[in-house]
Amino acid sequence: SGRVEDFLAAQVAARGDAPALSDSLGTAWSFAELDRAAEAVAQMLGEAGVQAQDRVLMLSENCASAVAVLFGCWKLGAVIIPVNARQTDAEIRRIVDHATPAALLMTCDASSDARDHAARIGAVEVTGDFGSLYLAAMRSNPDPTLRDVAVLLYTTGTTGDPKGVMLSHDNVRFGGMASAELRGMTPDDLVYGVLPITHVFGLASVITAACYAGAAVRLEARFSGAKLFAALQDGVTLLSAVPQMHALLMQYTKEQGLTQLGSERLRYVSSGAAPLDPAWKRKAEAFYGVALQNGYGMTETTAGVCATRNPIGSPDISVGPALPGVEVAIDDAVPGGGEGSGEVLTRGGHVMLGYYRNPEETAKVLDAEGWMHTGDLGRLDAQGHLHILGRSKELIIHGGFNVYPPEVEAALNEHPQVIQSAVIGRMKDGDEQVLAFVQVAEGDRVSGEELKAFVGARLAGYKRPGRIFIGTSLPAAPTGKILKHRLLAAFADQLD
Ligand code: ATP
Ligand code: MG
Repeated sequence: SGRVEDFLAAQVAARGDAPALSDSLGTAWSFAELDRAAEAVAQMLGEAGVQAQDRVLMLSENCASAVAVLFGCWKLGAVIIPVNARQTDAEIRRIVDHATPAALLMTCDASSDARDHAARIGAVEVTGDFGSLYLAAMRSNPDPTLRDVAVLLYTTGTTGDPKGVMLSHDNVRFGGMASAELRGMTPDDLVYGVLPITHVFGLASVITAACYAGAAVRLEARFSGAKLFAALQDGVTLLSAVPQMHALLMQYTKEQGLTQLGSERLRYVSSGAAPLDPAWKRKAEAFYGVALQNGYGMTETTAGVCATRNPIGSPDISVGPALPGVEVAIDDAVPGGGEGSGEVLTRGGHVMLGYYRNPEETAKVLDAEGWMHTGDLGRLDAQGHLHILGRSKELIIHGGFNVYPPEVEAALNEHPQVIQSAVIGRMKDGDEQVLAFVQVAEGDRVSGEELKAFVGARLAGYKRPGRIFIGTSLPAAPTGKILKHRLLAAFADQLD
């Protein structure tokens, strides 16, 4: 046990001059420079009245200053609440009301959205070794129950309102070490940091993992296929991304007529945070020339629960075995999973302390034996590899049969013109209809009838979508994950 900032202290002692971070603003910091920047943040916050066990809400998009804020808060003993600047005013206000932070900080140089929030809130610029930040001091109100908490991380909100997950210093250290060890990260690695550090996957599996291992991170504020391609050609060795980013890169390479990356440096590529389907995996591996590993985790489990360790070309689309030190079990008392399957449970040093100021929700998911009830349906195969079937909340029961949205999405994604898709159920006349939402490129012509025929050849009748909506974008979180509860509203003009 220890504290996350000890990772940074260890790097400063061992290789202070080695590169730690670079970003799209041109900032390039060694570990010693990152440490100085973090010290300056801690001092600035202290002068603004922030104390240990206070919350500090940061609105940011990935940049070096944002990482200095993380470590600065930890040095002060404060709890960081990283929030993506692309969230709306209303979403941010909800978190502020819930968590009562003592200060708000914005990293504006890499984010015009953060700048807009700063102007609205009336935050003032502060400068120092950390670069430029905007600060709005609120009221110090330390919460002693947060003694061991490093970060309050709000969930993506795929299924409803985001929940504030309390991750301890031990959780974040565990998640960082597990991710670094899984990838064999070393100081020779250059990690591509496009996953928002405001999400658990970017924060624990990328930033703290790299800091633990002494690897350098190249931060990117916003994803684009073109920028990712350029970075891969420029020496990136490790890439972690949500499946949608791999799909969008494949779309970009298709448009550019690129078939193979041909990088000597790239050695590990992973997908996580949402289902990975076989078509994407196949196309992406052919392009990268490296296996695409699938990792499963959630905010409540500091990211990593399971990850594959497959050779390139493997047909395996499980999420692999549990990470070292992590237990996984199936609760087959939960209905809807079918033979041998049920709700996925997990236990270990990665499981959160609970939801902040929400003991009722915490009690629903954490049991007395320390198991986290994930809300995901899955099954373990003979090798102990976990297969995720989908979320229990999203399971569609159509004509008495179970329909798992990821399976229908995978069939749609096989179509060459489909970039990505999302499937949900909707009650109509006492039965749940299967509705599909499909993203195609601007100017691409494909009809719902054509797609119906296409998936009709791949899926049993009860799994086939009754209706298919086609658009050029789908509502997404800042990570790129599709926000399913916003689909109906986004396609309201096409619904009856
Ligand atoms: P909310 O809990 O607010 O509705 P969310 O569950 O999407 O949002 P996250 O913590 O970002 O918030 O996501 C975790 C969930 O993502 C998991 O519970 C699981 O449903 C899904 N997931 C993560 N990795 C994978 C994967 N490799 N394959 C399939 N699903 C995955
Ligand atoms: Mg969730």
